[in-house]
Amino acid sequence: MKKETRILHAGRHPEQFHGAVNPPVYHASTILHPSVAAMEKSGKTPFVGVRYGRYGTPTTFALEEAVAELEGGARAVATSSGLAAITGALMAFLKAGDHVLMTDGAYFPTRKFCDSVLAGLGIETTYYDPLIGAGIAALMRPNTRVVFTESPGSLTFEIQDIPAIAAAAHAGGAVVMIDNTWGVLNFQPFTKGVDVSIQAATKYIVGHADAMLGTITVADPDLWLRIKTSVAAFGHSPGSEEMYLGLRGLRTLPVRLKRHAATALALAKWLEARPEVDRVLYPPLPSDPGHALWQRDFDGACGLFGVILKPVAKNALDAMLDGYDHFKLGFSWGGFESLVIPTTGHAVVRTATDWSPAGPSLRFHAGLEDVDDLLADLEKGFERLACAG
Ligand SMILES: *Cc1c(COP(=O)(O)O)cnc(C)c1O
Repeated sequence: MKKETRILHAGRHPEQFHGAVNPPVYHASTILHPSVAAMEKSGKTPFVGVRYGRYGTPTTFALEEAVAELEGGARAVATSSGLAAITGALMAFLKAGDHVLMTDGAYFPTRKFCDSVLAGLGIETTYYDPLIGAGIAALMRPNTRVVFTESPGSLTFEIQDIPAIAAAAHAGGAVVMIDNTWGVLNFQPFTKGVDVSIQAATKYIVGHADAMLGTITVADPDLWLRIKTSVAAFGHSPGSEEMYLGLRGLRTLPVRLKRHAATALALAKWLEARPEVDRVLYPPLPSDPGHALWQRDFDGACGLFGVILKPVAKNALDAMLDGYDHFKLGFSWGGFESLVIPTTGHAVVRTATDWSPAGPSLRFHAGLEDVDDLLADLEKGFERLACAG
């Protein structure tokens, strides 16, 4: 069965729920146990069956089963947000005195967690060039427990050579993690050497900008227990309705993603040819430095890309961004509508690599609107840029 077909069935067991097509939403904190003996037994295996709401209900299990299938893993752990998935996964493997290798292209709050919480716990982070590939071997230390990747990188969109990084990390005994939010179902992490794959399900899995949700998927069941234990210890449990929205979003994910990606490619090509534009950062573009690796390792793309403009006055840029009809100013991405954010200056923090484009940088999310409407919106934006400049 193709991935698109499998996703429709993943985590669904209508025969257990009176034939209902979708898994029911369990609103539960308290779970009643029939006897003291049963209660004691469930305490010995807290993650088997249903014991208490925080540890999971059949709604949780349905989502975890579906996401594991989506990513080609064995088991998953659902969390209350994408960031909770990142921090819960990291904390499952790190203790005082350990060392983490973190990509310089990491999502900013991931970085902030390393520099604040991990640093405070005596866990050292070294940032590395996302394009390092097999060269990461030189940065490995005896106490390096985790090599964290994100491909393409947040805001700067570098594609990483994950198989090469994973081989070097494993040779040094480290666990390889990926923030696979951009790849969603188009990057199959476990065939590329990844041990732990993280989704900000808030983005494309939920897909409608109406819930926060995260997932952590593994291929090795022993890692699952470690991660589940960590996530449970922090109390990172997702809400029932949020999980249902994630499950619902999953069913249409392949169709939505294709459309987001096709629109993004059309916009990226059009933008690339504009005189106001210096560079477009989108791995599916043949001109993108990561194009060959993207073609080798990904089955497709999504709607998120970056643009670097030629130098322009701030008031002109603000006039362009403020006046869009469709590209609204907002964080997050993966919902049905188009978005834009300026990423110039301190928005992009890099310490292992140089990131200093001459002109302003932007991040666009191509939504599900008609592509011609979006192109017209961009064109009018450049008119405002010219008038104000
Ligand atoms: C949004 C995002 C996250 C965090 O997800 P939340 O659900 O907002 O906590 C993590 N990684 C990437 C790449 C993201 O874009």
